[in-house]
Amino acid sequence: MLNSASQIDKVLIDQYPEQDRKPRLLVVDDQPINIQMLYQIFGADYQVFMATSAEQALAMCQKILPDLILLDIVMPEMDGFAVCSQLKAEAETAKIPVIFLTALNDAQQETHGLELGAVDFISKPVNPAVVRARVKTQLMLKQQTDLLHQLVFLDGLTGVYNRRYFDQQLEIELARSLRTGDPLSLIMFDIDYFKRYNDHYGHLAGDECLRKIALALKGHLRRPADLLARYGGEEFVCILSETSFEAAMELAIGMEQRVRALQIAHLGSEMSPNVTISLGVTGRSGEAPCTVAALLAKADAQLYRAKAAGRGRVCGEQIA
Ligand code: GH3
Ligand code: MG
Ligand code: MG
Repeated sequence: MLNSASQIDKVLIDQYPEQDRKPRLLVVDDQPINIQMLYQIFGADYQVFMATSAEQALAMCQKILPDLILLDIVMPEMDGFAVCSQLKAEAETAKIPVIFLTALNDAQQETHGLELGAVDFISKPVNPAVVRARVKTQLMLKQQTDLLHQLVFLDGLTGVYNRRYFDQQLEIELARSLRTGDPLSLIMFDIDYFKRYNDHYGHLAGDECLRKIALALKGHLRRPADLLARYGGEEFVCILSETSFEAAMELAIGMEQRVRALQIAHLGSEMSPNVTISLGVTGRSGEAPCTVAALLAKADAQLYRAKAAGRGRVCGEQIA
């Protein structure tokens, strides 16, 4: 079945388990007949989505995050080159491989497309066997890159980002905040009495508890730019770009409540029958000078305050 922008919904797509689902191809062409032809070629092996304009293509990319895009160049209003540039400029869509499909047969155009970040360039009319083989190759490369990215940047136990990625992103986000004057906030949190949890329920149950909390709090962060990482052991950290200190405080209070609401029994805890976390919050506003070390030290000091004040709470202080 061919899926149009109006027919699909991200909720539906989320139902596909990542490993089992068919790869998603987005075909962008202003001529429906070309889309139909590509659907004949790919419909059996892939989930094929279509867009007949640049605008629709960009909206579709945000919504379904395709695994690969077959992109026509000549389209009215906005051409394929502009679509490709825009996709490459957004962190969320930058890594989607783009193959240009075009009737233009011109080395200069081809070079231009590849320089914009496309991975391949195929002339129309397409040969089904050739286009199938090239798409397969690019999808395999994408899968390998994703896997490598996962191994390097994700925490194996909880699936959230790891310390390496966090360190890298905090540098980037702080530099951006200093450049643009947008606020930047940080939340650091740690599970309360977690040593006793392990002692009481065993290390495997401890691991499961870490996973549950990471998953719940990842779901609590709503903006795509919010980043949750495992900082080490049972300590996590969130980078909240373009977020004021006040908004970060509110978010932290919500996170504390969210963990309580999980009602993970903790008989070894002194202050609650269930697992709780303590959180330290800091943030810089547009004016304040700041370094990565200062942000981390302040968040850590506030976390320490929350622990000392009895745990299961949020403490925060803005960078002056
Ligand atoms: P506090 O309320 O002051 O944070 O006390 P705590 O017991 O949580 O703090 P402490 O730093 O003394 O102990 C942290 C514990 O977290 C000890 C360690 O065994 C456990 N831990 C760290 N990483 C993991 C992990 O990956 N899995 C499990 N199961 N436990 C872990
Ligand atoms: Mg702890
Ligand atoms: Mg700790």
